[in-house]
Amino acid sequence: MSARILVIDDLEANRRLLEAKLSGEYYEVITATRGEEGVQRAKREKLDLILLDVMMPGIDGFETCRRLKAQAETRHVPVIIVTALDDRDSKVRALQAGAEDFLTKPIDDIELMARVKSLLGLKIVIDELRAREASGKRLGVIEDGPDPLERHRLRAGNVLLIDDNASQLKRMRAALGVEHRVTELGDSGALDAGPPDLAIVAVSTKGFDGLRIIARMRSSEPTRHLPILAIVDSGDRERALRALELGAHDIITRPVDDEELAARARTLMRRKRYMDALRQRLDHSLELAITDQLTGLYNRRFLFTQLGPLVQRSQCGGDVVSVMTLDIDHFKRCNDAFGHDVGDAVLQEFAARLGSNVRPNDFACRMGGEEFVVIMPNTTGDVACHAAERVRRQMCASPFNVPGPPHPLEITVSIGVACSEDGEESAETLLKRADEALYEAKRAGRNRVVGKAAERAA
Ligand code: GH3
Ligand code: MG
Ligand code: MG
Repeated sequence: MSARILVIDDLEANRRLLEAKLSGEYYEVITATRGEEGVQRAKREKLDLILLDVMMPGIDGFETCRRLKAQAETRHVPVIIVTALDDRDSKVRALQAGAEDFLTKPIDDIELMARVKSLLGLKIVIDELRAREASGKRLGVIEDGPDPLERHRLRAGNVLLIDDNASQLKRMRAALGVEHRVTELGDSGALDAGPPDLAIVAVSTKGFDGLRIIARMRSSEPTRHLPILAIVDSGDRERALRALELGAHDIITRPVDDEELAARARTLMRRKRYMDALRQRLDHSLELAITDQLTGLYNRRFLFTQLGPLVQRSQCGGDVVSVMTLDIDHFKRCNDAFGHDVGDAVLQEFAARLGSNVRPNDFACRMGGEEFVVIMPNTTGDVACHAAERVRRQMCASPFNVPGPPHPLEITVSIGVACSEDGEESAETLLKRADEALYEAKRAGRNRVVGKAAERAA
């Protein structure tokens, strides 16, 4: 993961050190020597992360951070404040200034990389979410609303604690309970709280193997995306490294500081919410991409992505596949007599009847206009003709009761059927044969099914 990182520090030695460590991991590093200069550079440059020293002449790191977070152009770039003092006050002030994270000097390499990677992951998600929001708004799919960053800001989450140290558990419960619902493994109420948004796992324990738990959580489906914060004894570099390798997103060292714990929990949960929102939006847009908007059936694009491989497989000795093409009879009359909206309502009712009269494995698609196609995997021509006949009867069995016209409308359909068992075939030729059969059905008087076998090679 390559990224551009801005280091703001007044001391050259510090800048050099951070630059060496970060470019050693293939990050691109740019530097600034003063807070004011840093704010200006951040405004001009495309950045993924800012590392910010606290004690500088001019405006200090806290004020610099406040300014960065007040500017629309730089608000989204995560900031890590680097404090020389390992005291609570500096940490609290860093968080109050809006920093996402903090590190104390002398900088520990493992911690540095863990924080950097974690926040860069967050930045990628934020960028993608914002890009989607922006394009969604351009297309009119997403309404103008609050900044997604705001929407996902502070909300109570479910935190799952996994530790065997009773007093440590009690303290963490108290520290996190102010904002979140906290449960422990084995709590009777654990299930009521809903799925966790964050797991905090102690890894320097004797009672159980926290590293194994992390590995399991990463590899099993329900917890794959769950953020994990590992608690490590200070100085236990080996376990800290292992925890990160196994997929913990962040680490915190014992003795756990309440404020730091709350801040890290907040950052991790915020990231999870971004990710969830992103995934949901992606699922939604995928669904939109394959769905016909008027009828809710699959669209033409989906039809071809499904049919091609099914026909190909049947040509290689796999299951046969049949298609039926359907065209509503004299649909134009309905539009002409009652208007386009009534026509649309008829299409919707037609689609609903079609959808509920095919098997779950079949794909009912709208090709366009008043033409539909049903793909029937693993279905012979005879069976497909029976299915088509059932659909035809369902359409004319009872008139369509749509709003508008003074009486329900008699609707009939003509259907053509073709099956891949009948010859050399591609998706196109199979559909073409079904279309020819449909044309015959129309010519023969409509409201009927015609099946068409391919002309077999002599
Ligand atoms: P046939 O029995 O030969 O199929 O006659 P038809 O009138 O059904 O066929 P034709 O192809 O002549 O007319 C189809 C009509 O469907 C014309 C077009 O305006 C209408 N149509 C196409 N798409 C839509 C749509 O999305 N909504 C509505 N309401 N009408 C549509
Ligand atoms: Mg028609
Ligand atoms: Mg037509």
